[in-house]
Amino acid sequence: MHASRLPSSVVPIRYEIRIEPDLPSGTFAGAETVEVTVQEPVSELVLNAVELQIRQVSIRDARGLVLAGTVTLDERSERAHLRFPERLSPGAWRLSLAFTGVLNDKLRGFYRSRVKASGLRPLPDGTAEAGDQKEETLLAVTQFEATDARRAFPCWDEPGFKAVFQVTLIIEEDLVAISNTSVASERPIPGTHKKEVRFAPTIRMSTYLVACVVGRLQATEPTRVDGTPVRIWCVPGKTHLARFAQEIAAFSLRFFQDYYGMPYPGDKLDLIAIPDFAFGGMENLGAITFRETALLVDERAATHTELTRVADVVAHEIAHMWFGDLVTMGWWNGLWLKEAFATFMELVAVDAWKPQWERWVTFGVSRAAALQVDGLDSSRAVEFEVVAPRDAEAMFDVLTYEKGGAVLRMLEQYLGPTTFRDGVRRYLVDHQFGNAETSDLWRALGAVSSEPIQAIMDGWILRPGYPIVTVTSDDPGGTLCFSQRRFTYLASAADAFQLWQIPINFRVRVNGEVRSMRLLLSSTEERVALPGRLDWLVANEGGHGFYRVRYAPALLSRLADTASDILTPVERFNLVNDAWASALAGLSSLGEYLDLTARFRDEADPNVWTALLTSFAYLTRTIVPTDRPLLETLIRDRLGPAVSRLGWDALAGEGELVRQLRGELLRAMGTLGNDAAVQAEARERYATYRHDPSAADPNVVAALIAVLAHSGGEAEYVEFLEKYKTAHTPQEEQRYLYSLAGFRDTRLIQQTLQLTVNGEVRTQDAPYLVRNLLMRVDAREQAWRFVTENWDRMERQYAPGGLRRMCEGITGLATPALEADVRAFFSSRKISLGGKTLEQYLELLRIAVAFREREAVGLASYLSRLAGTR
Ligand SMILES: [Zn+2]
Repeated sequence: MHASRLPSSVVPIRYEIRIEPDLPSGTFAGAETVEVTVQEPVSELVLNAVELQIRQVSIRDARGLVLAGTVTLDERSERAHLRFPERLSPGAWRLSLAFTGVLNDKLRGFYRSRVKASGLRPLPDGTAEAGDQKEETLLAVTQFEATDARRAFPCWDEPGFKAVFQVTLIIEEDLVAISNTSVASERPIPGTHKKEVRFAPTIRMSTYLVACVVGRLQATEPTRVDGTPVRIWCVPGKTHLARFAQEIAAFSLRFFQDYYGMPYPGDKLDLIAIPDFAFGGMENLGAITFRETALLVDERAATHTELTRVADVVAHEIAHMWFGDLVTMGWWNGLWLKEAFATFMELVAVDAWKPQWERWVTFGVSRAAALQVDGLDSSRAVEFEVVAPRDAEAMFDVLTYEKGGAVLRMLEQYLGPTTFRDGVRRYLVDHQFGNAETSDLWRALGAVSSEPIQAIMDGWILRPGYPIVTVTSDDPGGTLCFSQRRFTYLASAADAFQLWQIPINFRVRVNGEVRSMRLLLSSTEERVALPGRLDWLVANEGGHGFYRVRYAPALLSRLADTASDILTPVERFNLVNDAWASALAGLSSLGEYLDLTARFRDEADPNVWTALLTSFAYLTRTIVPTDRPLLETLIRDRLGPAVSRLGWDALAGEGELVRQLRGELLRAMGTLGNDAAVQAEARERYATYRHDPSAADPNVVAALIAVLAHSGGEAEYVEFLEKYKTAHTPQEEQRYLYSLAGFRDTRLIQQTLQLTVNGEVRTQDAPYLVRNLLMRVDAREQAWRFVTENWDRMERQYAPGGLRRMCEGITGLATPALEADVRAFFSSRKISLGGKTLEQYLELLRIAVAFREREAVGLASYLSRLAGTR
């Protein structure tokens, strides 16, 4: 029994909630009747409420006995104590409350989103034309996860207290209201300009999934999937950007019904684009909310990355309708499971929708991000005990989503996709409309697979870190030796010898014959006899394992010689990424890594290039300034052949991944490589594009903008800022906004910094803009000074999650002096970013500075040798 949990002496069964938001004044009034079951005699009810005024408390029993109650609000514990003059006997009661609250601007609870005057007037076909409507319009939006339903109505705001919700909204007659279910009735309220919109009752679900959206909104025509209407909602004038999301939404809904073997648990599915939104998407049953960039997109003008983002988020949220909404964690310690699972399922669905996107290859990039954080001494276990619900806020990170998703993928590949799916189906059937624990999923998977799932998974989920597997072979090459120890970047206090049960798939060529083999490595070291002499070996075959591999030098050189012939793209990605991690950790020299990169000049996979480019960007941030021109030379040397091969123009019939790669290489060549020819060509091409937007592939357009910001000045800045303000799509808006962080002129950097606090950039975006500036070598010192001077203001304006994202930028402040300054600032301020977030950022910064100090001399001589040989 946790003191931080509500008592379960009284449990809610059904809420009837009636809310009347007043958008202009930023307030709302509400009333609710909650059917409750009193389990044991009590004279006090305890439930959650915060920033609400509660009046008129009464409760009645089945025989009509009515008791008036008094209320005490405890703002600190976010609870309301309702006291009654006599004890309530066990049985059914109806609690009635009236309350008022505030529509805040903090993107949580019940809040207001502003639709800035775009000057656009919606046309009947969904597009817009320039009009004269200049006034700002407002939306009222809910965002409840994790614990903010209590800001909108008094409730038992814990995921275990599932109930039925019947919502009624009183709104202006020209507005639209959306909630979790379809509209049951709508009627004007005589003598007012208002109407009452009553929604059908929901299934039994948790409070954090309730949603209400009110405002001027337009919907697409519904697509029907087995009778369920699927619609996209957005502010007027944008429905023409909804087609892509509607297609993946309809596909996902059908796909998941099939995968889960269970019908969709709602009665309609609305996906709603919100102009101000703290997350990517929120899985409210039947009324999923999104930030605009994650839902609205112009397919003809978007990059491959931007389209993938929309598909991913839409599929992710729809996966939750079952896993999360129908079956819900019992408490917040289980939050990781629904997020990891939805991350895994979004990939399964998008991969089925567009196999040519090779989504599981791209997932290597996400897995690498998790391997980075989980390689820290200050990493955490994926699942940990959550005492106060607030602790769970630190769970919204790369370990929950990407590590969690990656270990589920590892398990799925180990068990086989069909067995894994059957276990998931069993879990959903057993717990539908209820709550479950992580161990319930392991039990269901164990039952269908007859494998000790819990024993395998505990090491990956309940303990921080992961292993590095070292592979050696004996001299004649007839025996392999696999050994494990924990991987960390810094010499660590962590237990290096903790053991994991590692499902290892590997591929060997023996006596000229290629074969795949499997091993569950659960001890420190294990030997495998081969049926002959080894030619080569690929450990972590398929690349699904959540561990790193280190090959003995002889094995590595044989592999690197033939990498493009024998390794799949994911395996090549891992080879590069693991080698880079080894260099960062000091297990191998930077020179060895840079030699390896020379073997990838002809690489064709965009994700392998992402691994290479990420390391080049890291080096750019980390090395001493005098070495930078030589590093640029090296980058041009590595990128040059691929840039020339791909050129600037998309070819007819070319795949999307090739187009993506072209854009990313050009961008890197013009920024990290600082290539004058690419910069000059980008200038010309952008000039053409301005007059004819169809003149360049969208992937190249994004590169042009980034390159011009890097090489441009005042004129480009003024233009891009204007383009940001008048953008036609959410993606275009983002592209120009973030380009502002790419300029190198001090005065322009200062101007961008001002935008992050003066209200010109939405608070959902501003923290990311600051983060990007902190990560840029030309802007970071100035940005850091600005952050220290404006900290209080930023803390006030940004949501806690935004502040956390912004601070990620400190990992880019990779000089000894800046590091010392950062440490002094955070210790003097006693700032907490939730969980171990700040410790992790500081450790990442330590790794970068230690790397800089360790490699400075070697790198300088490596680079000048390279320059000398050219
Ligand atoms: Zn999610």
